[in-house]
Amino acid sequence: MGRLNDKVAIVTGASSGIGRATARLFADEGAKVVVSARRRDPLDTLVEEIRNSGGEAAAISGDAKDSDLAQALVDAAVNRFGGLDIAFNNAGTMGEAVPTPDLTVEAWHDMLDTNLTSAFLGARAQIPAMLQRGAGSIIFNSTFVGYSAGMPGMAAYAASKAGLIGLTQVLASEFGAQGIRVNAILPGGTDTPMGRAYANTPETLAFAEGLHALKRLARPEEIARSVLHLASDDASFMTGAAVLVDGGVSINRV
Ligand code: NAP
Repeated sequence: MGRLNDKVAIVTGASSGIGRATARLFADEGAKVVVSARRRDPLDTLVEEIRNSGGEAAAISGDAKDSDLAQALVDAAVNRFGGLDIAFNNAGTMGEAVPTPDLTVEAWHDMLDTNLTSAFLGARAQIPAMLQRGAGSIIFNSTFVGYSAGMPGMAAYAASKAGLIGLTQVLASEFGAQGIRVNAILPGGTDTPMGRAYANTPETLAFAEGLHALKRLARPEEIARSVLHLASDDASFMTGAAVLVDGGVSINRV
């Protein structure tokens, strides 16, 4: 008996990293999943893997900044799989680290659109379908950056991701009475293409690992297991939370 049997989930940013690992885990736990990202080929491979393991999945490619895509994902969940119970709004970018005086307004807006507005668009489309179902779990992918640690050059990234925590709190209070839980997960450094773009030399990798009390990066599957917890009824009394899964970055001082 899977922990998400009879559930339908949307996972954005599912073409790699944390989103891909979470979509796999959700499917392994019995959920039917609608996966999305811009790149089509890795989504098709993911859907094939899930089907080969006995699961059900559908892919829709597009840009998370597009409100039509957000609605299309919900429509796919409802029309193909009967409804929507879970949404992991995970798509995001870290961009280049830039000293704030050199950050262009265009780059600032692009970061906020990709990481924060996309999440708003996702939730705005997902909530009516969850209200139809009488319950739901929305999870946003934030970060410790801008929450428990400042990191030079990451003003736009930190602001966009901290914005998700405010969004989490408001949505949780707006829809708690109707059975919709809303939480943010705050991963530490994770070994994904994004994580490796930051830790792209032996020196920067050692630096990034050393920031964590556990002295290593997370595997995407480790973050996925915490997302699964928030998605499942195991977290039935958790809402409005910013959940650090950060290998101790936030408390580490040496
Ligand atoms: P990743 O492997 O690079 O995955 C990023 C995902 O987001 C990809 O599937 C990418 O797909 C998708 N994406 C990016 N921009 C998009 C857009 N405009 N429209 C649609 N999809 C888009 O990196 P990851 O580490 O798994 O990142 C996933 C999330 O975790 C991000 O929100 C990130 O901020 C957060 N996070 C990561 C770390 C870390 O250390 N890795 C730590 C804390 C939080 P396409 O390129 O195919 O569109």
